Amino acid sequence: MRVAVVGGGWAGIAAAVALARDGAEVTVFEAARTLGGRARRVTLEGIDLDNGQHILVGAYRAVLGAMRTVGADAGALLVRLPLDFAIVGRFRLRAPRLPAPLHLLAGLLRAHGLTVRERLLVVRFMLTMAARGYRLRADTAASALLAAHGQLGPPTDYLWAPLCVAALNTPLPAASAQVLMNVVRDTLGAERAASDLLLPRRDLSALFPEPGARFVEARGGRVLTGRRVARVTPAADGIAIDGERHDAAILACAPPHAAQLLARNALLPEERARLEALAFEPIYTCYLQYPPAVGLPQPMLGLADSLLHWVFDRGALDGRRGLLAAVVSARGAHEALERGEFALAAHRELARLVPRLPAPEWSRVIAERRATFSCTPGLDRPGNATALPRLILAGDYTASDYPATLEGAVRSGLAAARLALAASRTA
Ligand SMILES: Cc1cc2nc3c(=O)[nH]c(=O)nc-3n(C[C@H](O)[C@H](O)[C@H](O)COP(=O)(O)OP(=O)(O)OC[C@H]3O[C@@H](n4cnc5c(N)ncnc54)[C@H](O)[C@@H]3O)c2cc1C
Repeated sequence: MRVAVVGGGWAGIAAAVALARDGAEVTVFEAARTLGGRARRVTLEGIDLDNGQHILVGAYRAVLGAMRTVGADAGALLVRLPLDFAIVGRFRLRAPRLPAPLHLLAGLLRAHGLTVRERLLVVRFMLTMAARGYRLRADTAASALLAAHGQLGPPTDYLWAPLCVAALNTPLPAASAQVLMNVVRDTLGAERAASDLLLPRRDLSALFPEPGARFVEARGGRVLTGRRVARVTPAADGIAIDGERHDAAILACAPPHAAQLLARNALLPEERARLEALAFEPIYTCYLQYPPAVGLPQPMLGLADSLLHWVFDRGALDGRRGLLAAVVSARGAHEALERGEFALAAHRELARLVPRLPAPEWSRVIAERRATFSCTPGLDRPGNATALPRLILAGDYTASDYPATLEGAVRSGLAAARLALAASRTA
């Protein structure tokens, strides 16, 4: 079985790994020089950074499983921190070491920054959602769901809105309540370890895409970087990729690129229309290098009433002391700023947080303008299977109950691999 994977992001590599493990002859075509797609290492003027600061959580079972398969040691590559959700000066939620769901109930009842009434309202909301299996009768805006359950004010401002923008990269009024609840079900609503934060100690390409590629190559597969695919054509019992026949092909590009490829090759008009209908949200990451003595009280802090949403202490994670990563998720006024202005504004915000903060030695801003799809209510996401049984879609955007995340991407890649194997076997 010869299977092509177009795209070496987390979805494509997860698919390739699963295929190689099951004995298929895999070729990965990746347009960029570095594997990882929207979660990859970038080298800017000689400095290795990530294209954006990422967080993983204990609930990322597919990601952790895929890392295990390729021998990437999550224990060494990720810092695992028990749930400690802090919005500087406003809110803090820590879960004590108790069995679920007591850990969350106790954490919520002791949360700093909420009145007793607000804490009880949050607990009641969680219990109501748990009793309904986190299923809503109809999807709606996350803000509407929260308003209907008395969550407006501090519970929304300090808990739900930051959680929503972190997980769905979509502001509450535009976000899918159902997808937010799916995330809550699998993190706060699940066993204690599921809501642990897993923060990368190494660059994102080294976490999974590169070990994944080595796994594929060790099983006779090929991982071709710097290879942008232009032609995808149905062939006898297969799919030709730039003229090379394969028994099946997985298109694991981000939606705009997948749509372009389908358009150029006049393929799958229905799937293409659904890809083109997706809207996107940006994520901005500003890296600021301060003297080594500069650090944060926690590796990750949330900010309220600030341009910035989160700040990460990279020194506490990968040992590069004094390096902070400031993140702004989703769309907003910050998009109008020039990079230099953005970095200056980020520094000013950090100076409110870190006493006597000196000027940064350098800063870099990475703006990913189409970081994720807008995760809106009732979104019509294409499935993995297409009208051409041997051409399969993979990526964080395919239909699932998850938002655009590493976990969504890996799950989609694994599902696509299963379909490709099944399609090739019917040869
Ligand atoms: C800044 C930022 C921060 C994020 N933060 C988080 C986070 O904290 N936690 C989390 O879970 N998720 C986060 N995400 C989302 C996560 O990164 C994505 O959901 C995931 O990486 C998507 O993977 P993918 O494989 O579906 O797509 P992609 O990563 O887009 O991979 C597609 C690949 O296809 C390649 N390609 C495209 N066209 C062609 C072609 N014609 N030929 C060959 N190759 C092609 C591209 O170069 C790319 O490598 C973040 C995303 C960004 C951008």
